[in-house]
Order: sequence, then C-alpha cells, then structure tokens
Amino acid sequence: MAMVVQELIDYMNTLEIIDTHEHLPNESERLKQQVDFSTLFSQYCQSDLFASGMDLNRFFSPEVDVEEKWNVFQPHYERIKNGSYARAARLAMERFYGLNDLRSVNDAYVITERIRDGNKPGLYKRVLKDACRLRTALNFGGMSVDREYFTPVEYMTHYTDVSSQDALESFAGELGVVPRTLSEYVDSLGEMLYRKKEQGLRGIKFQYAYMRDLAFESVTTADAERVFNRIFEESQGWRAQVLGYEERRPLQNYLVHRFVELAGKFDLTVVFHTGIQAGFRNKPDNARPERLWNLVNRYTNTRFVLLHSGIPWVEEAAMLAKYFANVYLDMAWMHIISPQISVRALSEWVDLVPRNKILGFGGDYHIVEKVYGHLTMAKENIAKVLAGKVEERIMTDEEARAWAKALLHDNPAEVYHLLGV
Ligand SMILES: [Zn+2]
Repeated sequence: MAMVVQELIDYMNTLEIIDTHEHLPNESERLKQQVDFSTLFSQYCQSDLFASGMDLNRFFSPEVDVEEKWNVFQPHYERIKNGSYARAARLAMERFYGLNDLRSVNDAYVITERIRDGNKPGLYKRVLKDACRLRTALNFGGMSVDREYFTPVEYMTHYTDVSSQDALESFAGELGVVPRTLSEYVDSLGEMLYRKKEQGLRGIKFQYAYMRDLAFESVTTADAERVFNRIFEESQGWRAQVLGYEERRPLQNYLVHRFVELAGKFDLTVVFHTGIQAGFRNKPDNARPERLWNLVNRYTNTRFVLLHSGIPWVEEAAMLAKYFANVYLDMAWMHIISPQISVRALSEWVDLVPRNKILGFGGDYHIVEKVYGHLTMAKENIAKVLAGKVEERIMTDEEARAWAKALLHDNPAEVYHLLGV
C-alpha cells in the first residue's frame, strides 16, 4: 500500500492545482513586511501557541529581536511542534529555507536570514508556481488581487448585516448610491455583483458562522423593510447604531436570500463558512452546515460551497452534498486542522457522494510559503484514502488517479467556472 500511496503522490505532483481558498496579500504587500522566523509560525500556529500559554505580543512584535523571540518561543514550540498546524510550517521552512526543525537560537537566526533574503520579487512565483504548480488560487480579498496567481472571491456579509446610516453611507463608493429604501438597496447590490462579475469575480462569501447560526429563515419584504426603515428613522446625531444584533436578524435573513438568488442569476458561487471557526470564544453550534438546508433546497440555480465541509460535522455536510446537486464540500483548511479527520472524512465521502462534489485543497493562509506545506499534507491525505480504496478493490488505480485530479483540479474548475482562467 505504501507503494500505491507514493505513486499517487508522484502523480499529484504532476498536476496543475486549483487552490480553492486563500487570504494572501499580493506579493508587493508581502515584500513590505518585516519578516523573521516568527513569520512562519503566525496565523494558525499562533492559536496553538496561545493555547499552550505563550505571550503572543512579544513573539510577533517587530520591535523584539530574534534572540528574545526565541526565548519566548522555544518552550512553547516544543509543545506545538508535533501538531498539524506546525507541521505545515515546518514543511514550508524545510522546502524554502533548508531546515525542518528549530533546535537552537542559531537555527532561528539562520531561518530569519534566509526568509529575509528570499523576501524579494519572484517569491510568489517560486512558491505558488514552481513548488505548488497552482494554476490559480481563489483568493478571498478584494478585486485587486494579482490575477497572475489569484481569482477573486469577495465577502458580502457586511452588506447583509447593516445597523446604521453610517454603514449604508459608507457603501456609496461601491454601490454608486446611498440606498434610501430596501428595494433601492437590493437593486444596487445586484448591479454591483453584475459589475464585479464582469471584472472577474467568481464567488461571494458569508462568514456568519462567527456571529450567528446558519438558519436563514424566509422573511417577507414587508418585515425586512420595517427593520431597514428603522435605520434611517432612528439614526441621529451621535447615535450611530440603532439595531441590536438579534433585532437585525430578519434583515440579515432577507438580504442573504437576495444575494443567493442574485448569485444564481449571475452564475456566481456562494461560499458559506461552515464548521470550526478560527480564533477564540466561538460558539461551535453556530457553524453547523445542516442549517443551510432551506437555502440550498430553494435556490437550486445557485451553487453552494460548504467551506471546511462543516468540520467536525463532516457527515452532516455530506448529507447536503448527497441530497442536492448544487452543494459541494470544500476541504480548505481541513488538512492542517487534522489530517486524521480529513482522511476519515474523505474516505467516508468517497462512499457517500459523487466524484464531482468534493474540492480537495484550499490553503487558507496569509503567509505564502505555508501553502506549500499544506498542499504537501493534502496530497498525503488524499493518497492515503485513495490507496486504501484501491487496496479494498473499491476502485482501480486509474479511477484513483481520476479522483485525485477531480479533487485538486477538475472540480474546483467546474464549480468556479474557471475553464478560461
Ligand atoms: Zn478562510
């Protein structure tokens, strides 16, 4: 079986990859950052370092020198180094800067020197094209992402979660109008989506799982309008915010439905964060994917991506993908959260859902080098699952390769309509 695993990894290394999910700055912005060895242990490793009890401010401060950073980091690094977040960082460190581990302050100096040396034009090509063979990455930022590497997907949550006149006025730049009525607002959002689609937008994202549950009940226009009207009626002087979080829920529900409907009309993919939330103090129950049922059932012309496949509710997410032709499971972030859960989930999904329903890799990173570490782990996990299926005679070698290509390239190309990119 080890043999089949390696053969599948070798095969995946020949493929062009479509990365479904990144939060990367353009290279020009990255090159302005002051980098050192701590850069490689930011973002997700940061949560593990926090959970292990480390003082994050000193470690990530640009004012603190390498030796002091090392002293803060070393005992906590020992605690997190065998976790899967750290593994992606270490694989990237090894590939680009020559060391897989940090054993002394001297190693921290070596990595700092090498990452600073490499922080120059060509970095993104070296990582994303040469090492990762990415055809493109769906990058979840603005429209100004560098199209050589990225395809834009934009957040729309803030347009659906309004509670002040200031917020509506701040949208004037994007919408070309300060919306004074709900119908004017929905019309201007539709025009904005159309315009952005023309400029290359491929999807829209909602991150409500960080704020509330994902049950977006149907709301009548009249009920939504009553809430919307209060924003103008009650905003005055220094009283900016007029609606509490739960009070604006009907308006959120209504606007999410309108976006989902518009996305279907303009052929944009709708991405919902489901499953584990980044950071702290989250309410896990808010992230359950099954709550999206009424949306996916109603708007059958719209394609829905369940980001992170609802992890740990991976079976619940699979039920939606099994029942509905317009629902897809996206393994973005999963492989570094837990290779074990990823392998188990993918193995179950091969049983449960058709081959076109799973997107196999999204890095979900701010630090470009780590995309490589994550991709390496994704390929290992995918190879383990598919080799197991070959061994059980559930699929042939050739079918295993077809699955690998579907996960890493063909499915994301189809879901995001990237055929011309
Ligand atoms: Zn993300």
